[in-house]
This record gives sequence, structure tokens and C-alpha cells, in this order.
Amino acid sequence: MILVIFGPPGAGKGTQAKCISKKLNIIHLSTGDILRAQLLKKNDLSFKLKKIIDNGELVSDKILNQIISERIEENDCKRGFILDGYPRTMPQVFFFNDLLVKKNLEISYIFEFSIDDQTIINRIIRRAATENRGDDSDAIIKTRLLKYYQETKPVSEFYKTEFNSIYHLVDGNQEITKLNIEILKLVKKQWFNLFYSTSILDFNLKNHVQPTSFY
Ligand code: AMP
Repeated sequence: MILVIFGPPGAGKGTQAKCISKKLNIIHLSTGDILRAQLLKKNDLSFKLKKIIDNGELVSDKILNQIISERIEENDCKRGFILDGYPRTMPQVFFFNDLLVKKNLEISYIFEFSIDDQTIINRIIRRAATENRGDDSDAIIKTRLLKYYQETKPVSEFYKTEFNSIYHLVDGNQEITKLNIEILKLVKKQWFNLFYSTSILDFNLKNHVQPTSFY
């Protein structure tokens, strides 16, 4: 099962992804977390990355595509994974789609969190007090939001149009537990619909029942 979460910085994607990951027993892949782990290595690459991330800019598509293509090969991704922070640009979308086709995989669920800008700013300022992230300052939040609207919003619009049957817009302003319940209900409902329609199809095929349009 592959689940993709979209939403502006501070929308609560990471928090939700962690809860869903526990409930569904699939791994949470946050490209932000993966990059922040790289920063601890203190080499040439990590210094370059730190500068980009702390300025609220996006890291190159080449680096992100490589990170994801290597990471999803690992054993803990075999049952599926939740993507939080990727794909974030249209070139990443094209790369990721090709990768999935090559690996004979499909995205199962897409969730986009809608949330107003003021709530985002308040949440990030609160997070800054506890997580000590270099990119959670007032000025950098504005650059990150701008990047989100310029680069990532077209990505979620693409998925909304091209993958509409698995795309769900959810209200990211609501309380964490409520949103978590809503997401898990949507997962269950879509899974049930898929299971139900494929089992009817199997039954019809086995019993040589013609599709209704032929009656
Ligand atoms: P996040 O924790 O998802 O807010 O990501 C923190 C920072 O990591 C972003 O502001 C970017 O600098 C970088 N980053 C994370 N994911 C990506 C991505 N898919 N493409 C480019 N940069 C990324």
C-alpha cells in the first residue's frame, strides 16, 4: 500500500503520517527527516544541504529522486510506505511515476491537507519552540509557503485531476485525533469499495455473468 500526503509546511503531515504508519503497520518516509539526518554527517554535501534547507529553498530533484528510489528498495518498504514531503515538484512526479511503473507499483491513497495560512504560521512558531529546526523561523516560513504554492500545489492539482478516485481533500485545521479518524475511515471505505467491486467482478467472471451494460 502506498499512501501520499500533501499539504503546506506545518499542516501536520508528519504527525498524521506517524499515527497512520502505526495503525496500518507501514513505514513513514519523510524526505524532510531523511535530509535532516544527512545534515548530522557534517560533510561537504551536508553543508550544502543545510544552507538550502535553512533558507526554506527546495533541494534538487536529482538528490530527492535518488533518495526515494534507493529508500523504497529497502526491506521495510516491502509492505508499503507513506510518503510525506515527496513528490514536491512536477519533475519529481514524472520521475516517481516512471519508478512506480518500472516496479509495478501503484499509489493507493492520496490525502491533501487544506489549512489556512495563519494556522500554519501559528503551528510552525509553536513547533520552533520545541524542535529547534533551522527553517522554522518567521521569515523562512514565508519562503517555504511560497515554494509550496509555486512548486507543490501544481503537484497536488495534478494528482487531484489524474488520480481523482484515490484523491481525498481533508481539513487540516481540525484536531489531530479527529483528522486521524477521518483518514483511517477513508482508507477503510476505499479499500472496502475496491475489495467489493473486485470480488463482484471475480464472481461475475467465474459465473460468466455479463456486465450490466450488456443486459
Ligand atoms: P519538510 O520537513 O518536509 O518540511 O522538509 C524540510 C525541507 O527539506 C524543505 O523545506 C526542503 O528544503 C527539503 N525537502 C524535503 N523534501 C523535499 C523534496 N521532495 N524536494 C525538495 N526539497 C525537499
